[in-house]
Amino acid sequence: MSSKNDWRAPRGTHDILPQDESLWRYFYETVEWRASGFGFGRIETPLFEAPEVFTRALGETTDIVQKEMFEVRRATAEDSDETSSYILRPEGTAGVMRAYLENGMQVWPQPVKLWQYGPMFRADRPQKGRYRQFWYAGFEVIGDADPTTDAMAIFLGWQILGDLGVRDAVVVDINSIGDAVCRPKYKKALLEYYEPLKDKLCATCQTRLDKNPLRLLDCKEEDCEKLKKHAPQVVDFLCQNCREHFRIVLETLDELGVRYELTSTLIRGLDYYTRTTFEFRIEDDERRQGSVGGGGRYDGLLEQFGAKSTPAVGFAFGVDRVLELMQEKRAPVPPLPAPDIFVVQLGDRAKRASFNLIAQLTDEGFNVTIQPGKDSLKAQLRLADRGGVRFAVIIGQREALDGTAILRNMNENTQETVDQSDLVDLLKKRLAEPFEQRERRIAEEGEDVN
Ligand code: AMP
Repeated sequence: MSSKNDWRAPRGTHDILPQDESLWRYFYETVEWRASGFGFGRIETPLFEAPEVFTRALGETTDIVQKEMFEVRRATAEDSDETSSYILRPEGTAGVMRAYLENGMQVWPQPVKLWQYGPMFRADRPQKGRYRQFWYAGFEVIGDADPTTDAMAIFLGWQILGDLGVRDAVVVDINSIGDAVCRPKYKKALLEYYEPLKDKLCATCQTRLDKNPLRLLDCKEEDCEKLKKHAPQVVDFLCQNCREHFRIVLETLDELGVRYELTSTLIRGLDYYTRTTFEFRIEDDERRQGSVGGGGRYDGLLEQFGAKSTPAVGFAFGVDRVLELMQEKRAPVPPLPAPDIFVVQLGDRAKRASFNLIAQLTDEGFNVTIQPGKDSLKAQLRLADRGGVRFAVIIGQREALDGTAILRNMNENTQETVDQSDLVDLLKKRLAEPFEQRERRIAEEGEDVN
């Protein structure tokens, strides 16, 4: 049975409409330009993967794995596929690691730097800035243990936020959560602190205590927040190597002028992080939208896939949140180029000729538009006017037969008959012509005004 709701986008998803195209495109092009400038290659992985890719990488006790994964299976029963159930990717790093191994990237010159862009899916409770399908721009540097690489990743994000005009609104929260050498000692200290306070914790944290005490620092419940304040701090437990690593990361960020705050409770929701963790946080985040991006070092992740230990660091932007911030801060976004030319066709023969003409004009790099469903000259010219195009090319029956066209300057309401073969050169000249030059030409040559 169909109801009105069947025709709505699913909860937590939204359409991206043409009026927002300039914003989305500007984000993508900026990221593409910066990422390739920093030597990152573009990777695309499937939207869904085998469940193990995520359960192994993210950790069984994480919120994403326990509560937020969407399952994909074939709708019909006769599925003979061995893996009949998949997971819609909730984040990008796990899939990229799977692709790194599957495509033999271990033998490429290291580090391998990859970036990706696309939708992610989490069965989160939707609210402003939190969607079930959200866009994600992720960056990974695989095969490099150097602490300056962590700083480079953060700096890349910092640069992109600067390019997009929102860097002043953002600060980098940063922490080190140690490694396999020092983290167990910290976990033990956390357990010792929280055990006697167990009754005061929220229900979720009570279950987290045994499985993954670090996650207690992530909790936003009021009572847990209070207890967090006096909990042991991870920096006091870092081993010599982790401390040295963190020192160099921070020194490099200082030199690069990145604004950061040491945040000892930042452990992030995923199990795969080691040492550096960071988030790009909105500074005056009254609506508590959370971070516009985040990441960290994940030296142990590839081992989870059964590969040899490979150091890596990465981060991702939540694109929807960055764009919301850009809109809030009224960051300037270049408008999309308006169409240059409207092709007006009058009659069947002209319509067919005009399609060829459009192909030819777009080959030359012009932005062309047409409304083949409209037949009257007046209606088409009105549309051309509303669309803000500078020139209309009018083809009627006669023009279609003798290979000519009427070139109409929409701003000046002037027109001339030209050979179709001259049209491209003429349009190039006219569209490139600066204002003063055009005024001079008109003064010298006159213009056949209709
Ligand atoms: P995470 O993998 O959780 O660190 O996510 C990376 C970034 O994606 C975050 O910093 C957010 O900006 C964004 N993000 C995460 N979950 C959502 C969501 N449900 N809706 C919108 N953006 C999200």
